[in-house]
Amino acid sequence: MENCIFCSILAHDIPSHKVYEDDKVYAFLDITQVTPGHTLVIPKVHVSDIFEYDEALATDVFSRIPKIARALEASFPDMEGLNIINNNKEIAYQSVFHSHIHLIPRYGKEDDFALHFGNHMENYTADDLAALAEKIKAQVKSE
Ligand code: AMP
Ligand code: ZN
Repeated sequence: MENCIFCSILAHDIPSHKVYEDDKVYAFLDITQVTPGHTLVIPKVHVSDIFEYDEALATDVFSRIPKIARALEASFPDMEGLNIINNNKEIAYQSVFHSHIHLIPRYGKEDDFALHFGNHMENYTADDLAALAEKIKAQVKSE
């Protein structure tokens, strides 16, 4: 797609540091290196975000993640963990609108990465949660 920075990377119109490639996905170093080895995995087809995936594309992309995760683990002996992040839409911190999965190696509490999970369980009764789950369940479509 025109004006997509990740399509330009796939076309080799702009450079990247490749860590893995096959017929379905391309993985390369994120330019910001939030932590050492921070890698992006992208589908070779242009889709904006997770809402455009079908099951086949999800299989193509997500099935490659574990082996790239293991390659990071093998590359960085001091890596203690790994966050796998997929931002969808601007409100959720997406800034490049060619879908991508962040693999962010973790090196202890002093590395420069943080996530905040608020806890709002005081706002929900068991019935509220059951109703929420039912509402979502009714929307899950089989493909
Ligand atoms: P997100 O905010 O989830 O959309 O993440 C987009 C990511 O793409 C950011 O972490 C950027 O650092 C990264 N990025 C943008 N341009 C490039 C580029 N030319 N090469 C590598 N990573 C890039
Ligand atoms: Zn693209």
